[in-house]
Order: sequence, then structure tokens, then C-alpha cells
Amino acid sequence: MSRRIKIFDTTLRDGEQSPGCSMNFSEKMEMARQLERLGVDIIEAGFPVSSPDDFESVKAIAKAIKGSTIAGLARCVEGDIQRAYDAVKYAQSPRIHVFLATSDIHMQYKLKMTPDQVVERVAKMVAFARSLCPDVEFSAEDASRSDQDFLVHVFNTAIAAGASTINIPDTTGYSTPTEMYDLVSYVKTHIQNPHVDLSVHNHNDLGLAVATSLACIRAGATQVECTVNGIGERAGNAALEEIVMGLKTRQGYYDCETGIHTKQIYRTSKLLSTITGVPISPTKSIVGANAFAHESGIHQHGVLANRMTYEIMSPEDVGVNQNKMVLGKHSGKHAFIDRIEELGYKMEEADVAEAFERFKVLADRKKEITDRDIEALIGASAVANVKETYKLKSFVVNSGTVISATAVVKLEKDGQEEIEQVARGEGPIDAAFKAIDQIVGCHSKLENWTINAVTEGEDALGEAISKISCNGNLVTGRGLSPDILEASIKSYLNAINKAINAAPKANLE
Ligand SMILES: [Zn+2]
Repeated sequence: MSRRIKIFDTTLRDGEQSPGCSMNFSEKMEMARQLERLGVDIIEAGFPVSSPDDFESVKAIAKAIKGSTIAGLARCVEGDIQRAYDAVKYAQSPRIHVFLATSDIHMQYKLKMTPDQVVERVAKMVAFARSLCPDVEFSAEDASRSDQDFLVHVFNTAIAAGASTINIPDTTGYSTPTEMYDLVSYVKTHIQNPHVDLSVHNHNDLGLAVATSLACIRAGATQVECTVNGIGERAGNAALEEIVMGLKTRQGYYDCETGIHTKQIYRTSKLLSTITGVPISPTKSIVGANAFAHESGIHQHGVLANRMTYEIMSPEDVGVNQNKMVLGKHSGKHAFIDRIEELGYKMEEADVAEAFERFKVLADRKKEITDRDIEALIGASAVANVKETYKLKSFVVNSGTVISATAVVKLEKDGQEEIEQVARGEGPIDAAFKAIDQIVGCHSKLENWTINAVTEGEDALGEAISKISCNGNLVTGRGLSPDILEASIKSYLNAINKAINAAPKANLE
């Protein structure tokens, strides 16, 4: 019988702490719900002691999510552990994840502790965590650069104190797959309880995180820590979708399975990219735009004759719908709803109505509406479910090589007043955003702006992402339109509306 590997997702903790990937409260909730649908075993929701915001979002996720274990990270100190527990205790299945470094370099320079002190601290703090919560994971930070006998001694100490999962991180992404294979094998044969879960957590500094994780699984690891799209500190973590599809596609080799609903993979990846505004490289394995595209004539010919000639997995398996069935201007609400259901979405009636409105507007301007377009429209309602304090009425932008860009933007405020402003800028986008700033009068700063085509073709739908900082919060806005200026203006307004309507922290109970 094949071994069941637990998928521990740390997109909301390790992933979220990487530059440009921070998420606000509602975005984390949206992501957690999708991770639950994806079927991950454990969601590491955050590091509760790190900030009041992190604490609140871990707590809210613990309350809302039923299908996955909810873990909170804590250093090996009582205050951290208590705080982590206070946040995860609402979960049906809570976990406290404590960590302490075990490598000489970390102990000497970072912790300023002797090996004996480290062992003593682990014994005490794992026991404390265990007194609060039945499910405790212990991580030996920088395990791959630790003395192996000492590492095993620390692990046995943690297990004796009540840890049910021990994690062997390659924190710096330094190890090779074979070295980590050997380390996991060594730990496996030297720990005193064969029933604890052996976990690995690999970083991608040398591009080996997924390869190393799979090698660790071969060596006997039963849990793997990873993130969606491989986001994370520096070069990122091991990518969840690559590990899962590696195990599935090469089932005969690994003889392992996961609880992941692979058809949710593409959607999860896209949602994260939409929320963070970090695009997915076209050649990214599994979820990149070209991952299943066959360009060369020889390949196309082969695939047409038999898909297995060049395809080792089917795009449908990861939820990429190859069906190019298109809807258009004359498609009715029924066809639209049918397509949504076929794509596997479940939506509230009000959201369907709203998405259909958007569909109609788009169909007036774009001949063929593909599945990607529909997913973008649906994504717009899922992510941008925000009160439109300011709504775009109209805009005119003039720009060129011999004039400075000027924008005239008219917004409607609270469905009543119409306000118009003119502004000059460094370019058309800058001018339009400045006009909006004058109308709204808010002190926000544009941190990042990107635009991508959702589909191919001349009338491709443009998806713009604007990230603004407002009162210390980073807010991501999204706008869709075949017109890139309009998409950009909408994304900026979406971010501003989100910032204006952000729930006061005190109400997040
Ligand atoms: Zn990490």
C-alpha cells in the first residue's frame, strides 16, 4: 500500500514573509479557504507573536477552517508558545509549531547558547507547548548544517517531551538532494519513536527545494512543508504543486500519495498570484502559461496523434481547462452559469449575477470569452468583494512623445456625487492616478503596478494589479478590462476602496 504523505502548507507564514507577498486580513482568509479546498493537511497560518495583525488572522483562520489542521509558529519561549496557542486553540485541529536552531553557527552567533542549554530549552518548551495542545511540531532550524548526533539528541529530547512531528529544515537551501536523503535516513533510524511524523522543509536557494523534498520523501519523510508557487524567503520554498504532481505523475516510482485535490492546483496558484500581484513565470512547472503548450511542429504533431507522446500529465489533472469553448455576446445567463459549474466553481446567486453583469460588459468589447476570461471575472468577485465608495464614471487621457500626459478622471462617490479632476503626470498611468488622488484626497503611495494579458490575442483581457501603501498597510487592487488604461485605473480604485473600507482591527473578533 502506498504511503500517505502529509502536505504542510506554509504559504501564509514562510511565503507571506517574502518581499512583495504580504497579504491583508481578508486576502489571508480567502487563501486559507482555497487551501482547505485544495486539501492540504496542515495550514501554517502565521507567526502569532510577530504582530497583532498576524495573531488576529491566525485566530480567524482557526475559527473558519474545518478541513485542515491549523498551525501557528512560535520560537522556543513561553510567551511565543502561549500566544500561538491563544490563536490556534479555536481550530478543530490546532497545532503549535516550535523551533530552535541546532547548528553550531546559529547556536553560537544567533542564540548565544551552548548545546546543553539548547537541549534543556527544547525539553522545557516542547513540554510547555504540549501542556496546552496535543499536537506539537518541533523544528530544528538549520538542521542540515547541524552535527548529526547532536541533532538526533535534540529530536529525541523533543519527542520525549511530547512532540508528535519533528521537522528537519534545510533552512539555507544549502544541501543537495542526496545529502538530505542521507540525513533523513539517519534521523529515521536513530529516533526513539518510529511513530512520530518526520517532516522536511527545504529552501530553494540553489534551485533544489523540490528535488530535495522528493528525495527526503524517498528516504522516509512523512510530511513535507511547502508553499503555493514556491513563494518564500529569498529564492522561496519548495513548490507545493510540483511536489504533489511529482508524486502523482511518478506514483510507480515513489509509491506515495497525498490528500491534495489536484484539480484545485491551478486555481490556487492563480488566486495567490492575483492576491499578491506576483506573476507566475510562463515556464513555471505545472502552473505556468506554457506548461502544457506545445509550440514545435513535431511536438504538436505527436500530441495530436496521441497526447502521451509529449505529455506526462494532463492539464485537466491540475485544473487547467484545455476546452477552448468560447462564450460571446449572445450567450445567455444559463450558458454562463453552466460554464461556471463545469469549471468547478460554486458561487452564491448574488455573486453569479454580479459576475454575469461583468461578463455582459466584457462581451460587448471582446469577441470571444474564453475559460481564462471567465475565471478572471469570477476571481474579480472573489477577491474584490469590496464596497465601491468610488466608482469610475469616465476618463480621458492624452499622452505622447511631444506632450506631457494629462488625465481627466470622473468618479462617482457613494453612488451620488460626481467629481472630476485633471492632472498631469510622467505618463498616462501616473497622470490618471494623480487625478484620482486629488479626488479621493487620500495619502496613499503606489508601491507597485503590473499589467498582464489574461488571454492571447489582439482583444486580450488585461489584468492590472496596483499595490498601494495606506496608513502602514499594503493593499492590493485588481482591475480587468480589454483597455489597459481602464484596467489600471480600476485596479488603483479597487485598492483605494479596499483601504477606505478596511475593517478596523478591533472589530475582527
Ligand atoms: Zn523556511
